[in-house]
Amino acid sequence: MNILILGSGGREHSLAWAVMQNPKCDRLIVAPGNAGIAQIAECAALDIENGGEVVRFADENAIDFVIVGPEAPLAAGVADRLREAGVLVFGPSAAAARLEASKSFTKEICDAANAPTAGYARFIEAEPAKAYIKKQGAPIVVKADGLAAGKGVIVAMDEATALDAIDDMFGGAFGGAGAEVVVEEFMEGEEASLFVLCDGESILSIGTAQDHKRVGEGDTGLNTGGMGAYSPAPVLSAVIEERAMNEIVRPTMAEMKRRGTPFQGVLYVGLMIKDGQPRLVEYNVRFGDPECQVLMMRLGAQAMDLMHAAAEGRLAEARVNWADDHALTVVMAANGYPGAYQKGSVIKGLDDVSEDSGNMVFHAGTKESDGQIVSSGGRVLNVTARGQNLQEARDRAYELIDGINWPEGFFRRDIGWRAL
Ligand code: ATP
Repeated sequence: MNILILGSGGREHSLAWAVMQNPKCDRLIVAPGNAGIAQIAECAALDIENGGEVVRFADENAIDFVIVGPEAPLAAGVADRLREAGVLVFGPSAAAARLEASKSFTKEICDAANAPTAGYARFIEAEPAKAYIKKQGAPIVVKADGLAAGKGVIVAMDEATALDAIDDMFGGAFGGAGAEVVVEEFMEGEEASLFVLCDGESILSIGTAQDHKRVGEGDTGLNTGGMGAYSPAPVLSAVIEERAMNEIVRPTMAEMKRRGTPFQGVLYVGLMIKDGQPRLVEYNVRFGDPECQVLMMRLGAQAMDLMHAAAEGRLAEARVNWADDHALTVVMAANGYPGAYQKGSVIKGLDDVSEDSGNMVFHAGTKESDGQIVSSGGRVLNVTARGQNLQEARDRAYELIDGINWPEGFFRRDIGWRAL
């Protein structure tokens, strides 16, 4: 099979790494890719949000199967264009991608599916939103409706912060994404995510994970795209997972099908768990980054067969072959991230890191310059390891980091602390 993966982060490096291990893959192209991906697959420059361009590229390169990494091409309808052109694709239609692209849409679906989630109200003007916040009181959560790269959610511990967030959002801080605002009940509990493949009809759980969003140790400081993750998530026991499947995921998928917009791809189910009860925080319509890295490390080559089965509508007969293992990834980021940071510093020692099915350095933001690997983003490397238990996975990941020489970067030393 000739396979095309769209994206350029650590998520896509881990997807490429899993796909390359599968003997059914004859040729792999990743667009646009990064320096780490270029070591294992072909990379191609391509505007991945332009459906016409992606279809043309797939045609010219006799691509049999496309895997879409990030949400933006999905929301832009790239999977629709590929399907119309007869190309097999893993990833939802733009209509089904609204489960991530519109928070008020997701709330509407939860209502219709009777899925447990935070109470909420929707607003298109500031004054009624402010009146609602004053009535409800803090803590309260204010969310821009549309895609805002993880920045459009303000968890306000006091009323003034919530009211300011309303002004910012209706003031245009998030552009069109803030034209509608969802104000939500604050949910207490522990967060974890569940990853489910769907083929429009059948669903299959492919694992659980937890990530660390804050930049500082002890989960303090500013929010980031994620500083590390591990799988499985101990808080998401088999019993709670089954509840989440029965009360949230299955009814959502049934509602999407009933509306004529069945979901096909991977659904990232963000949950808040309290007293054994899971409630939905959010859906994403693609793998999380860095959660994907730990899932791929655990699934290996079978990940491609599972995604292929989802794309072909064969999930009912698919099974996950679980090793009883754990994986953990530590993000190395450029000094200053998530604030201002420098690009272009040289990362040494990567050639000497011994990589195998249990140890991998996935590249998130790197490029090659004069034969050296240099940083090209905020989150730069995802140092990932597998073990028989979480402690072993964590020890191995930090051992790998010891071999990397990058003074311009930093990482958290406590990834996995909640679970250990
Ligand atoms: P990301 O893409 O970074 O996950 P997002 O913009 O899609 O974020 P959400 O996941 O909905 O936004 O919210 C971001 C974070 O805010 C959640 O991971 C959670 O920690 C917190 N949060 C969101 N909604 C609530 C809520 N109702 N109660 C408590 N915390 C919440």
